[in-house]
Amino acid sequence: MITRPSNRCKTIHDKYQKLLCRIKDKRARKVVFLSHCILNENTRYPGGACRGGCIAEILSQCIEQDLGMVQMPCPEQIAWGGVTKQLLLMAYGAKGTVLYTLRHIIVPWMLLYTKLVYGRIASQVACRIQDYLDSAFSIIGVVGIDGSPTCGVKKTLDFKKSFEVLANIDIHTVTITDANKVVLECLINGKGLFIQALQRKLKQRKMDIRFLCHDLIAEMDGKSSTVIL
Ligand code: SF4
Repeated sequence: MITRPSNRCKTIHDKYQKLLCRIKDKRARKVVFLSHCILNENTRYPGGACRGGCIAEILSQCIEQDLGMVQMPCPEQIAWGGVTKQLLLMAYGAKGTVLYTLRHIIVPWMLLYTKLVYGRIASQVACRIQDYLDSAFSIIGVVGIDGSPTCGVKKTLDFKKSFEVLANIDIHTVTITDANKVVLECLINGKGLFIQALQRKLKQRKMDIRFLCHDLIAEMDGKSSTVIL
């Protein structure tokens, strides 16, 4: 748990602290930053939603421990064309199309564009984390999603290989098992692109935040989350 008292806007900060001392409301002043799909699996890729809405066992811990939940934006939703991730959808069954023929040019550009957008989102999230710390709140941690090319903390996906697996999908016969093959076959050790960007931004601001990971593969197997807040 990290708490950093304010050294910015000191007068306002002192005024806020005095107010909170007088007006003792119920806030516990502890927050956790959660990957978007922990609270809303509707943003997952087709096949990736293993729960109807959210990951209840992570939410119950937040409720039991009086933690405020800050839902980070879904970077793929923002960068790849909304909740249906239209840019990603273009890769499904792309084999034999112009997109596939030009993949050696398009995929690196797509990667570059994605990194640029993620850098901007990461700056906004780092700024929000800083705001809580400067206002003397405690940040319990950031919870990412292992197995995501974007939000993975220890496990991510090989981006180029993922494109190949998606391109080979037959969208007329595809099953949930085929759709999830992309995660199982392309899993590698490492951080997702958004988590890399966020950790860079936090480092630049000299903030040392704990990162935890929810395991997508275990979730696909029907297991409960092992995240301990
Ligand atoms: S893992 Fe990250 S990018 Fe993927 S759906 Fe969840 S929040 Fe969005």
